[in-house]
Amino acid sequence: MELYPKDLKELEQNFSTEEACRQYLFQLRWPDGFRCPACNHADVWVLADGMFKCKGCKHKTSVIAGTVFEGTRKPLASWFRVIWWVTSQKNGASALGLKRILGLGSYQTAWAWLHKLRPAMVRPGQERLSGVVQVDETYLGGAKPGKRGRGAEGKALVLIIAEEKGRAVGRIRLRVIADASADSLEAAVHETVAPGTRVKTDGWRGYNGLKAQGYAHEVVRKTEDIGENLLPLCHRVASLVKRWLGGTHQGAVSHEHLSYYLDEYTFRFNRRTSRSRGMLFYRLLQSAVVVVHTGYSEMTHSVRGRKPKHKM
Ligand SMILES: [Zn+2]
Repeated sequence: MELYPKDLKELEQNFSTEEACRQYLFQLRWPDGFRCPACNHADVWVLADGMFKCKGCKHKTSVIAGTVFEGTRKPLASWFRVIWWVTSQKNGASALGLKRILGLGSYQTAWAWLHKLRPAMVRPGQERLSGVVQVDETYLGGAKPGKRGRGAEGKALVLIIAEEKGRAVGRIRLRVIADASADSLEAAVHETVAPGTRVKTDGWRGYNGLKAQGYAHEVVRKTEDIGENLLPLCHRVASLVKRWLGGTHQGAVSHEHLSYYLDEYTFRFNRRTSRSRGMLFYRLLQSAVVVVHTGYSEMTHSVRGRKPKHKM
């Protein structure tokens, strides 16, 4: 095996033991050798239980501490299989599918596995989009389009940011936003788009401040409506996301978890041309061992808190 397994057989051959999985995660987490997460020291004792103890500050850690695998009761080999399966589903993984394929005991267990992995589908410090992007909002979770600034009942407002690659969509970002105010829009654009980028929007006044934020802002449509007549690339992305939510997840995504699902969708979409499934597997594991950043870690904890019967 080179960087990642090329098929299921290679996966099973290479990751049948806990030790093999840990070694692989070690390489992903510390490609340039161990660094103490507390003091950045490089020298370490390896303890009998597989923990590491820093020779500088005596901090004890393990290869899975601070990652999505922390505190898991399942063998890493099982996690690797789940991740392999998740990344090989063309249209995304559903809890029902996971339960069926892996013979898991309950839907809730399968659901909990997937939710633990979703935060890893967005890499902390993720690159901001650049070049030319289209930005528009849409409502998810409801049938009818609504008016801006008036919050539509039972729907979540989602900002779609799509890179233009000629007439095709490049990379995307999807953000749930509280409302279509200038504050919400500018914050979401700032988080996802690099300054200097050409940003195309419609004529909604909430976008008026983008120029002052360092973007080459271009109004390409005068409308103020929201929902139906999106900018073309945003429209295409919105349709795909809606189909995905309605198909793979049969519309059963609650608002409180919508961000997770959008992150998963983004992860897949931005890697849709990856020729190798193994590469997706590698990327997901790689981000799973990057220390989970605070926002997501809090969300993960609250998910865990609500599902005490299904400890991972
Ligand atoms: Zn240390």
